[in-house]
Amino acid sequence: PTLRPDPLPEDAAGDTRALRPQQLDDFIGQAQARANLKVFIQSARQRGEAMDHTLFHGPPGLGKTTLAQIMARELGVNFRMTSGPVLAKSGDLAAILTNLEARDVLFIDEIHRMNPAVEEVLYPAMEDFELDLVIGEGPAARTVRIELQPFTLVGATTRLGLLTTPLRDRFGIPTRLQFYTVEELHDIVTRNARLMGAPADAEGAQEIARRARGTPRIAGRLLRRVVDFAVVEGDGTITRALADRALTRLGVDELGLDGADRRYLRMIGEGYGGGPVGIETLAAALSESRDALEEVIEPYLLQQALVQRTPRGRMLAQRAWGHLGLTPPRREPQ
Ligand code: ADP
Repeated sequence: PTLRPDPLPEDAAGDTRALRPQQLDDFIGQAQARANLKVFIQSARQRGEAMDHTLFHGPPGLGKTTLAQIMARELGVNFRMTSGPVLAKSGDLAAILTNLEARDVLFIDEIHRMNPAVEEVLYPAMEDFELDLVIGEGPAARTVRIELQPFTLVGATTRLGLLTTPLRDRFGIPTRLQFYTVEELHDIVTRNARLMGAPADAEGAQEIARRARGTPRIAGRLLRRVVDFAVVEGDGTITRALADRALTRLGVDELGLDGADRRYLRMIGEGYGGGPVGIETLAAALSESRDALEEVIEPYLLQQALVQRTPRGRMLAQRAWGHLGLTPPRREPQ
């Protein structure tokens, strides 16, 4: 099943568990979200109630799953995890819901990809902790109502706009995650490098942080490769020169863009004279899915002002021409 637009072999690697922050206080960045969650978690604990349903939205790799796990741990309840595309039938969701214990956290990743029939089951479950199950078929069919334990649904989505309004409205705590600053990523890289036994000096950590596209998952991925170079070609410590050499060999440029990012920018610049070009056209030209462009590639390029989204399509921004070393076509004054 398609769990994510971006396959994540590195998350399957054995050592990443130890690197995942376990408590809200170990979690670096997202200061505002963290401060709010702290209050809501403590309040739920003191009242002995399930915490309100929480929706995390933002680009992949910013810590949605990690925060959901931390919530369960700090609430002292079980963590159950599934994803929108995996829940094919309403019975799949019913089975999970009826097995929850009081106040458990149920995490549904990619909640915007849920089948509408399954979503219908979720509404009364979220609102009243009730499940309406249809038993039998045809004229003999009847509905039975099942009481559920109160629980906390934590939804994650990379595409808030694709959520239906009724689903969106049922989350009491909508939380947007932001790209991380270089300083925050610097701290994450420094901590993880130490845990991996390959300490990074301040400039080495800075170099990886600067080129990690504002995303802890990417920082982790780059760090693991730089550690390989540090062990084999260096003395096991991460310096700026070593990080730069390793990242350049991996095709990660000065701005942290990789081959896929540059291919996207070049297609607009060289293939379509800088745009505007429609997203569907661009996806077809690159043989990528529109979703992959919108969820994985574009958010950071937009945030970095390398590309602009206009009503007529995507356009290359001034900064991207310079970065690619291309000259923008001269436009006739309108
Ligand atoms: P998402 O669910 O948003 O795609 P994850 O929670 O799976 O992202 O995080 C991706 C990776 O980045 C994980 O390996 C996680 O340990 C790491 N990570 C995310 N946020 C942080 C953070 N604030 N500090 C340290 N590591 C983080």
